[in-house]
Amino acid sequence: MNDVLRKVGMAVSAVVVASVFLCSVNVNAQTFIEADISIIKNRNSSVDNPPAERVESDQLYVRFTGAGGVYLATQGVALMADPFFSNPGLGDLMLLNDLRPDETVIDQWLPPTENVAGIIVGHGHYDHLMDVPAILSRLPAEAKLFASQTSNHMLAASIPEARRVDLNSSMASATQRGEWVQVNSKMRILPIEAEHSPHVAGIVFANAVLAEDSTSLPGDALDWQSGTTLSYVIDFLEDADAEKDKVNVQYRVFFQSSSSGYPLGAPPAWLSDDGVPVDLAILCMANFDSVDNYPGGVLNQLKPQNILLTHWEAFWEPYTPNEATVLPGLNIAEFIAQVKQTVSENTAIYLPQRGGAITLEK
Ligand SMILES: [Zn+2]
Repeated sequence: MNDVLRKVGMAVSAVVVASVFLCSVNVNAQTFIEADISIIKNRNSSVDNPPAERVESDQLYVRFTGAGGVYLATQGVALMADPFFSNPGLGDLMLLNDLRPDETVIDQWLPPTENVAGIIVGHGHYDHLMDVPAILSRLPAEAKLFASQTSNHMLAASIPEARRVDLNSSMASATQRGEWVQVNSKMRILPIEAEHSPHVAGIVFANAVLAEDSTSLPGDALDWQSGTTLSYVIDFLEDADAEKDKVNVQYRVFFQSSSSGYPLGAPPAWLSDDGVPVDLAILCMANFDSVDNYPGGVLNQLKPQNILLTHWEAFWEPYTPNEATVLPGLNIAEFIAQVKQTVSENTAIYLPQRGGAITLEK
């Protein structure tokens, strides 16, 4: 960064930090809401980090790995989404220090890497993308990164092109139908153009779109640009029925790691043509109240059988499973009230602690 940009950055980070502290005052006045939420937190989920139980043939195992991240596994294939463990502290963020992955923390808490076919990423901010090169190097050689063009450009210096897939040409959007991207024979993903909710006063920080490969990794928190924000439909597939030329979906999951005003980020209408239900919707809670018709709009469309809520914890505190604290200013009770207004009583709502997991069965 040159000096002028750095000064602008310092000013912006001062605003961010100020808003965080203002929000903390707010949250202290609302401790009764946290008390209420403690009943729901980890409901029907267990913290089993680091060991993952054996996944049976009819199961989908889902672990909330922190920030907007999840680890999903059936018996035959696994996927990581927005994995983030390094959690740089507020000091490094405020001083705009260069951020680097914490390899020790990653090695300690990374879910099982066998069967992981890829990493998908929602957008390029540091809490979604900065650990990806370090994690990809620990995965099987066939595993690839699936992300926006901007995220691809930012990581060009650290991940070979053969292991990066640019999703901008296949994403569904207002102007593109969108198409499935095959991860391997057991999984496919549909990227969907989404929105990044404003951080404060209608502003999204670090929201540039890059058009060229970077020659080095981004440095400080404001160097990690969001680029196009994506949500995903993830299909876990059973063996294809060659005779009938038919794809058999075992589990369908919707994944969204940024709050996004409806209909941005919601699947295109053609998705429902195959009649496959959405087994699980994974939704971001951070800044949900600064976008329109969220989470009601997307839930009303998806009608998922299960909902798992993420991006609710303070991701600048050290990564300790089961001990995360709520993001300052995030009104979890209000979010859950809006969810309950939209979905049927039979829909299960999970709010796992950091490292908490659920297992769905069919
Ligand atoms: Zn972000």
